[in-house]
Amino acid sequence: MEGGGRFPIRRIFCVGRNYADHVVEMGGQVERNPPTFFTKPADAAICEPASIAYSLATDNLHYEVEWVVALYGGGVHLDPAAAGRLVGASAVGIDLTRRDLQSAAKKAGDPWDMGKAFDDSAPLGALRPGKLTDIAPTSIIQLAVNGETRQRATLDQMLWTVPELLSYLSQRFELRAGDLVFTGTPAGVGPLVPGDKIDARIEGLSPLSFRVDARA
Ligand code: MN
Repeated sequence: MEGGGRFPIRRIFCVGRNYADHVVEMGGQVERNPPTFFTKPADAAICEPASIAYSLATDNLHYEVEWVVALYGGGVHLDPAAAGRLVGASAVGIDLTRRDLQSAAKKAGDPWDMGKAFDDSAPLGALRPGKLTDIAPTSIIQLAVNGETRQRATLDQMLWTVPELLSYLSQRFELRAGDLVFTGTPAGVGPLVPGDKIDARIEGLSPLSFRVDARA
């Protein structure tokens, strides 16, 4: 990845239901506790792709634009202030989701892996080095498909802040340098089809643009 060389990704944590308007669009209740986490394999990350192939085994591949933070340090049982200081870079990411398989898993009480943890399911823009406090809370996060804006919010609409999310994780996992955290998506998620062009942006970070190709 850019910004001083390659960033060796250790693991990828993702949080669900972290913007109230997205919780509502998914049919949920807005509650602040506790955050819902899932993971993707490290090799789901695909950095600055020109294109990705439409995923296997789905007819309802969704985009979810997210602010992704990269940890340059680690620890356990961290308070929010200490946890926030682990962030050494951030990027725009997309939590690609096979919504049909995720919905079936929710209904069956099964794990979300089939809907979330698949090949190339974590496209990322270039990581920009910098402290968490370098990113303004009022920064706009947005995603357009074929030039049409579908998601647009500000980072301060997150239900759980990044320091809170990292502190919560650090009670349950030893965080380490190389961990990435996808911090949730605002409302407006929807399906992609082959030929679509995605443009995802967060103010102050490198944009992420790619095309969706036909299924391999
Ligand atoms: Mn997500």
